[in-house]
Amino acid sequence: MFADRNPTIDAETINVKFKEKGVTLPCPRCGHQKFNFVGETILSLSPSSLQNLLFESQIPIIIIGCANCGFLIQHAKAPLGLSRSHGGGL
Ligand SMILES: [Zn+2]
Repeated sequence: MFADRNPTIDAETINVKFKEKGVTLPCPRCGHQKFNFVGETILSLSPSSLQNLLFESQIPIIIIGCANCGFLIQHAKAPLGLSRSHGGGL
């Protein structure tokens, strides 16, 4: 599905998780089928968000980008089984 551009992440594991979850659709902007792994980061929710009262305020995510148009897509790591912690609220 996408190339491994970050040695700290196992692209094959991500591909397997995407297949298990049915994450197989093409780019929503251009319809291209290939994506590149861009990296991972923490998405911090606004301190005033009501969601912070119910869930964790930080969500570990992975970012992939369309190999054709560069459209960026974020996936929370926890639902994919990629997060080492159980935080993230998802
Ligand atoms: Zn695209």
